[in-house]
Amino acid sequence: MSVKIISRATWGAKPWDNDPRSDGPAYVPLSSRREFFVHYDGAHHVGRTGYAIPRAIEAQHLTQGWSGVGYHFVVDQAGNIYEGRGWTRTGAHCPGHNVSGLGVQIAVGGDQEPSEAALAACRALYDEACQRAGRTLAKRGHRDGIATQCPGTKLYAWVQAGMPANGYKPPTGGTAPGVARYQVTINGLSYGYGAEGSHVTRVGEALIAKGHGDAYEVGPGPKWTDADTEAYAAYQRSLGFSGADADGVPGESSLRSLLGTLPGKTTTTTRPKPKPPAFPGRDKFGPGKRNTYVTRLGEALVAKGYSSFYKVGPGPKWSNADRNAVRAFQRAQGWTGADADGYPGPETWRRLVA
Ligand SMILES: [Zn+2]
Repeated sequence: MSVKIISRATWGAKPWDNDPRSDGPAYVPLSSRREFFVHYDGAHHVGRTGYAIPRAIEAQHLTQGWSGVGYHFVVDQAGNIYEGRGWTRTGAHCPGHNVSGLGVQIAVGGDQEPSEAALAACRALYDEACQRAGRTLAKRGHRDGIATQCPGTKLYAWVQAGMPANGYKPPTGGTAPGVARYQVTINGLSYGYGAEGSHVTRVGEALIAKGHGDAYEVGPGPKWTDADTEAYAAYQRSLGFSGADADGVPGESSLRSLLGTLPGKTTTTTRPKPKPPAFPGRDKFGPGKRNTYVTRLGEALVAKGYSSFYKVGPGPKWSNADRNAVRAFQRAQGWTGADADGYPGPETWRRLVA
């Protein structure tokens, strides 16, 4: 048995960390896997289809400073399975469970009905995961690992029902107690159940200032509580909203009128540069060698003013241009003889790259 997975290359993933030199998330052997987590996309219905789905998740997760899509796989309503972290990398889907747990997002949100094709594909992934791990993985929803609405009422009921692949019947009637609140992300900050931060405190303080403080017995504080939800719902009703529009979870316009401005980032933050790699060894350089260290070395030489040696490149394949540029750099250090042979040793690497 093997499920068909659309590879990162096929759907057009960016390099890990948006950096061609990155090795990506750490390796995790399949024998470490013990759990299988189901996620959904959040409060809002997913309208995208096809490759746009993993690309949108990737864009969001890169913005969060993650290496790429944080889920191991993403399943869409057509039953397509997109590779995220894949089988053997650490995830970024549930704190404390990213090594022990594989994480799969079914790309639906809010009260959107997961399709039978999506559920069947997710179940097939689960079955294959158990086979590859050599054990029965525990079936979990995201909220089993951390306080969150994810994976929503419907998917969570499906997980609790044992993830039936065929004859899936959505739960009927009301929602389970205590899970009718969603979380949203506005301007890069989360609001609603599970949200935390000084922006949450600020919302609570603004709600009290507007006269909606009745719900607070303590606080407000940085952890979103039911009091925040109740106070926010009262504020939404005061604006004339009703029903699902007064659910106590901020929307962009109500939040803006509450606070005057939207908290959060307005420009893309620059992420810290990855640490330069240690000297990889002399055997990485020389005729016939091709690797990212050669590229890295060439780029460092160009940055130091040795670009005239390169007619093209620099690139991953070792060339005479690399050798001549390295030799020129070594001579410029005052080195001679074997110390200026055009091949980098640890000291050349340290001065150039590290
Ligand atoms: Zn989740």
